Amino acid sequence: MATSRTAESPITYVRAERERHLAELTQLVAIPSISADPAHAGDVRRCAQAFVDRMMTAGMQRGEVLETAGHPIAYAEWLGAPGKPTILIYGHYDVQPVDPLPLWTSPPFEATVRDGKMYGRGAVDDKGQVLMHVAALEAHLRTHGKLPLNVKVLVEGEEEIGSESFEEFLARHRELLACDLAVISDTAVFAEDVPSLTIALRGLVHWEIAVHAATTDLHSGYFGGLVKNPIEALAQILAGLKDGSGRVLVPGFYDGVAELSPQARRDVETLPFDGAEQARALGVPSLAGGENDRKPLERMWYRPTLEINGIWGGYQGPGTKTVIPSWARAKLSARLVGTQDPVAVRRAVTEYLRALAPAGVRVDVEDSGDSRAVVTSRDHPAVAAAARAMERGFGKPPVFIGTGGTIGPVSSFDRILGLPQVLIGVGLPDDAIHAPNEKFDLRQFFGGIETMVYLYDELAAALA
Ligand SMILES: [Zn+2]
Repeated sequence: MATSRTAESPITYVRAERERHLAELTQLVAIPSISADPAHAGDVRRCAQAFVDRMMTAGMQRGEVLETAGHPIAYAEWLGAPGKPTILIYGHYDVQPVDPLPLWTSPPFEATVRDGKMYGRGAVDDKGQVLMHVAALEAHLRTHGKLPLNVKVLVEGEEEIGSESFEEFLARHRELLACDLAVISDTAVFAEDVPSLTIALRGLVHWEIAVHAATTDLHSGYFGGLVKNPIEALAQILAGLKDGSGRVLVPGFYDGVAELSPQARRDVETLPFDGAEQARALGVPSLAGGENDRKPLERMWYRPTLEINGIWGGYQGPGTKTVIPSWARAKLSARLVGTQDPVAVRRAVTEYLRALAPAGVRVDVEDSGDSRAVVTSRDHPAVAAAARAMERGFGKPPVFIGTGGTIGPVSSFDRILGLPQVLIGVGLPDDAIHAPNEKFDLRQFFGGIETMVYLYDELAAALA
């Protein structure tokens, strides 16, 4: 049980409590809070309550399980620093399913430490990373009797199923969640011994294109040479989207895409990235996607993509069938960066797909999605504060990285609450999140706790 130890510094405190922090993470991992499986709905709720209880034990002033249209949210706050900034810490307590179970070396919900790593579902994604904050908050509260700033903690229960109820929840609780900054700990660092802060996430939009020819499949002997083949037309349209170097030809597509700053260029050119090794690991002959004249990390983090995700039509059964198909379809999506406007990109690509249609077919295009890229300037005072905290916690200054993926709640904080955000996660790229043998390296866990202890001080000073 946590006790008051006012003579200590918060750092001495968390170092003395490491065994207890491990025991607490073990207890939280033991709750199978699989949000995707209705059979575990009770466990999901129990886990929300466990996080509220843990946060109250840490000394937060008020905590509560808050309802959403789906799984509940664990919420707690400490608002005893009037006039000081308020931060909102985000994480999630739900986890991915565990199958295939036979591939786990130890049972997924019985956290097991081997070789300096704790193995268990949710160890790093994201129960352990939420617990880093709770441990750090407790250390301040037990030693100083207060926090250097106001803190609200929101632990979500639907992150692994797409945060379905989250935007509605944020919109409904704008007042409760009012703050100056969101702090999100659900990401990984670039590599072991390379502390990093994520400052760019790509947005996402979608299309589905249908190319129609005759009302039914036609005999290719009777009608071949007469009727335009819709699969051929679709192939022509899709091939017309990019030039030979991989650059997208859609007019206006790159509006809002900035060239890299000198610092960012230095990062993507100097961070350790072995293209040949990555190609080998992925089983491809070379890394030839995207714009060939740009570096791989720039293509992954700071350039938009336009991908074909699926294509189908015509005869696909056994043997042969000599038809001119009636139709062909494809699904496409784009990852967006910078200030690209999702709606403008959708419209521009839709018009271009239609314009590329050859004679003899009809083309229908449907578009969807409105997730913008989220970019935090590395010069933002909160980012600079987080960088100092990470340097103090891990002994070297972090690098700034992007992530090619899209983190739903991050876009929601941006869109619904209009908040600046700091993404400060400490997972490792090989943590096997969502896979068998998920683990949390204990050096990352303990270093993360100390980083968060420093983070609150640094943010209080930087945002004052
Ligand atoms: Zn996660």
